[in-house]
Amino acid sequence: MRHLIFCGNGCFFLCLEVRKSNIFEAVKESVTTRQAAEYYGVQVGRNGMACCPFHDDKHPSMKIDHRFHCFGCQADGDVIDFTARLFSLSSKEAALKLAEDFSVHYDAKGHDPPRRRPVKRKISEELRYRQAEQKCFRVLCNYLHLLERWKDEYAPQSPEDELDICWIFSCPAAWRNVLPWSLSMEKR
Ligand SMILES: [Zn+2]
Repeated sequence: MRHLIFCGNGCFFLCLEVRKSNIFEAVKESVTTRQAAEYYGVQVGRNGMACCPFHDDKHPSMKIDHRFHCFGCQADGDVIDFTARLFSLSSKEAALKLAEDFSVHYDAKGHDPPRRRPVKRKISEELRYRQAEQKCFRVLCNYLHLLERWKDEYAPQSPEDELDICWIFSCPAAWRNVLPWSLSMEKR
């Protein structure tokens, strides 16, 4: 075995050169599902949890380590299953793609060596869209929680209290009374 440093997508990976006749075994021994997931754009938290790319996941419900398991949709398997499903490939195509992307070497008896395939950049209009959607959802949820907190924390305690701008933002019902210009805008 030899160690190779492979740089891809701004990240460094430690790759093992594995002499195995079976590409499936070589790939599974050299690449964890977590490494592949991160390489293909799935954000994995320190605790190994990620939003599942296989169902409409709003909160991380997929555990990704050497293998993966989703507690939401029950998707489960190894790095080849993960990659095959992510790119809609057969198991063989997924193994070849992983071997190429992570520079995994194997004895190619009976197997064609991996060639440059256009599949790689096909990744993921869909995945990118889903990640952007999840990010927007998180941002809006955080904003909503902030407004809910402001609504309690900055609420006036008596009619004489000066109104706090945070409370005004968090309480649209107050706008009509507090901001006379909003009425004049509505009349236009
Ligand atoms: Zn899932």
